[in-house]
Amino acid sequence: MSHSPERPVEYVCENCHVIYAGTVIRTDEGHRYEPPDECAVCGAREFVELTQYPHVDSHAT
Ligand SMILES: [Zn+2]
Repeated sequence: MSHSPERPVEYVCENCHVIYAGTVIRTDEGHRYEPPDECAVCGAREFVELTQYPHVDSHAT
C-alpha cells in the first residue's frame, strides 16, 4: 500500500476570511486538525472548515 501525504484541513476566519492551515492534534486514532485559537488578523475566534465554507462570493459566471 502506498502512503499518500494528507492535505491539512484548512480553516477560514468567519470575520475577515483569512485562510489558515489547521494545527495537527495527535489522538489515539492518529491525528486531526483544529483551527487556530484566534485569528491573527482580526482576533475573531470563529472558524469554519474551508470545505464547509459557503460561497459568499457567488458571482455565477
Ligand atoms: Zn479574521
